[in-house]
Amino acid sequence: MSGIEGKVVAITGASSGIGEATALLLAERGAKVVLGARRPERLRALAARIEQAGGEAAWARTDVTRLADLNGLVELARERFGRLDVLVSNAGIGLISPLDDLRVEDWEQMIDVNLKGVLFGIAAALPVFREQGSGHFVNTVSTAGLRIVPLQSVYAATKNAVRTVSEGLRQEAGDSLRVTVVSPGYVRTEFAEHIDPEVRAQLPDTMEKSGLEPDAVARAIAFAVEQPDGVDVGDIVVRPTAQA
Ligand code: NDP
Repeated sequence: MSGIEGKVVAITGASSGIGEATALLLAERGAKVVLGARRPERLRALAARIEQAGGEAAWARTDVTRLADLNGLVELARERFGRLDVLVSNAGIGLISPLDDLRVEDWEQMIDVNLKGVLFGIAAALPVFREQGSGHFVNTVSTAGLRIVPLQSVYAATKNAVRTVSEGLRQEAGDSLRVTVVSPGYVRTEFAEHIDPEVRAQLPDTMEKSGLEPDAVARAIAFAVEQPDGVDVGDIVVRPTAQA
C-alpha cells in the first residue's frame, strides 16, 4: 500500500503539539487516525474537529507508561478500522535539568515515557504488524540526541536509546516492516511549558523565538508514511535554520 489515503495510523501524544499536527495532516490526507494521550477532553475535541472536516478518527485515553493502554490503542484501531498500518510513537516529555540537581524522579519519568513508552508501543503493535505482514513504526526522537549539550543529557539519552532500538528493530524486521525515526529540533509546542522555569531561563533564545510550527514535523512524518511499502525512510532531521 502506498500513499496516505486509507491507512490506519495510531498516534501517541496526539493531544497537543507535534502529535496533534500529525493527526490533522494525515487525516486531511485520508488516513484513519487513532489518537492516544492522557487528556481525553483534548482527544475528544480533536477527533470531533477531524470528523467535522470529513475525516475519520477514534481516540482512547492512553498513558504510554502502561502496556495495557498501548494494547488498548492498537485494539481500538483494529476494532474500528480493521487493521493498523502505522504507529507513531510520539508521546514524550523533556524534564531537563543539570545532573547536579539529582532530579531522580524526573529522570525516571523521562525513561518511562520516552523510552518505555516506545518499547510498549512496539510490544503492542509488532505482533499485529507480523500477522498482517506489513506495518510502519515512526518514532519521534530529537536533535538533542544528535548534539549533546548541558542540561539535556538524560532526555537525550532516552531519545538515543529509542534511536538504537529503532535501528535494531529495522534490522530484525525483514522486508515487511518499515521503521522511521524523526528528530525534530526546536518546535513551538507545550513541550517547554513542562520545563522548570529556572532551567528554561538558561536555554538559548532560539528555542522560544525561532521554534518551528509543529506542522513542519507533521509534514516530515507524512513524507515517510506516504512512501510505497518497499521504501523505508529511516531517519529525518527537521530543525529551524536558526538552530545551532
Ligand atoms: P507537547 O508537550 O505539545 O506534546 C507531548 C505529548 O505527549 C502530549 O500530547 C502529551 O499528552 C503526551 N504525553 C506526555 N506524557 C504522556 C504519557 N505518559 N502517556 C501518553 N501521552 C503522554 O510536546 P511536543 O509536541 O513538542 O512533543 C512531541 C514529541 O516531540 C516528544 O516526544 C518530544 O520529546 C519530541 N520533541 C519535541 C521538541 C520540541 O522542541 N517541542 C524537540 C524534539 C523532540 P497528555 O499530557 O495529554 O498525555
